[in-house]
Amino acid sequence: MASPLVVIDDKHVPLARVIWVADLPHFCGNPECECEGEYEVRLEADESLWTSQRGRDQVVQALETWYEQR
Ligand SMILES: [Zn+2]
Repeated sequence: MASPLVVIDDKHVPLARVIWVADLPHFCGNPECECEGEYEVRLEADESLWTSQRGRDQVVQALETWYEQR
């Protein structure tokens, strides 16, 4: 079965590419960090996307639904 897509940060990403999803918002203390307070979605090939808490919840929900259907 083909992997459905989920929208993360304005990009349609196949769910199969998602490795993990952050439970807590990013904090590193770097004043130049542009990801502060955002939730990391880790993808294959050392890529990451960043999204809001709501976006993160949608990704987790999509993953759970997908796994249940397999
Ligand atoms: Zn940071």
